[in-house]
Amino acid sequence: MREENTEENLVIAMKKWTALLLALLLSLLCGCKQESTAEIFAMDTVMELTVYGPDAAEHTAMAAETVRRLERKLSVTDESSEVARLNAGETVTLSDETAELLRRGLALREETGGALDPAIYPVVRLWGFTTGEYRVPSGAEIAETLEEIRSGTLSLKENTAAVQGIQLDFGAVAKGYTGAVLAEALKAAGVTSALLKLGGSVQTVGTKPDGSPWRIAIRNPAGDENAYLGILEVGETAVITSGGYQRYFVEDGVRYSHILDPASGYPADSGLSSVTIVSEDGLLADGLSTALYVMGLEKAEQFWQSRSDFEAVLVEEDGTIHVTEGLEDCFLCDEFVVIRR
Ligand code: AMP
Ligand code: MG
Repeated sequence: MREENTEENLVIAMKKWTALLLALLLSLLCGCKQESTAEIFAMDTVMELTVYGPDAAEHTAMAAETVRRLERKLSVTDESSEVARLNAGETVTLSDETAELLRRGLALREETGGALDPAIYPVVRLWGFTTGEYRVPSGAEIAETLEEIRSGTLSLKENTAAVQGIQLDFGAVAKGYTGAVLAEALKAAGVTSALLKLGGSVQTVGTKPDGSPWRIAIRNPAGDENAYLGILEVGETAVITSGGYQRYFVEDGVRYSHILDPASGYPADSGLSSVTIVSEDGLLADGLSTALYVMGLEKAEQFWQSRSDFEAVLVEEDGTIHVTEGLEDCFLCDEFVVIRR
């Protein structure tokens, strides 16, 4: 009797252990495969936020809420946002995030010789790029608005800011900054793999769940939305593209794009059709994608040579692709020209 009991107990115990092991294995496998995507429309673009790993759905929900929170602060059209209140003439105590964006935006204006100018909003409005009510302003209107900006003032003491004559638009840096904030928040929550697409801005976290690099397609500015020039294989970084094709209107056969040259007040006409920046610093990548597009190939190349915090893919209007040295091994396409330092 006793012997039988012992045998039975042993079988029961083994079954329990097997079941436990199986459950553990299954949960591990499911954990690896877990994936969640939030598709939202925010900051005037479609965003696709994908998180891999355990609790992926919770993490994507948190990411989407973070985007909304930043949008509520930075939107130029939402009257209650910090930026809209500032633009309306109020003295505003900015949140740390908006103050950081402003400080870094102004620093980038200096560094890029004014090619990126967060104070350019009055000109952006003149062309109707905010509302979608596009029009070609007269030369006099543009000159007058530029003069107002030049003689305008901005004061920033600690986080208290006020503007006069100028108005701010963080459209050229907000998505890259948001991607960077999301990546930090997700990593702090334990996420090791995420692909965050914020319109033309991509931010990755870690690697793909299987440990291989992310493959980010660079769109062909001359083709439709499915045409691409090549693929960048990257680890954790921001990959951000600016191009006239992303938003424009046509009047009397002339194409007017949303990236403006702050020096002239007219759409940048630098001979480039797109600029992609790869950098671990999302805000920098976004700011420079816009600035280098304004600068044109030669100045962009010189600018790249003077720094070591980003790499770039520059596409000329005739289709020539220039890839900086740091991307040589990870940009895969049929034909490209390599810029060397
Ligand atoms: P992006 O798509 O990052 O190149 O940013 C373009 C957006 O930034 C435009 O839609 C405008 O709202 C704004 N913008 C256009 N030109 C400039 C400029 N030169 N400097 C700063 N912001 C700009
Ligand atoms: Mg940009």
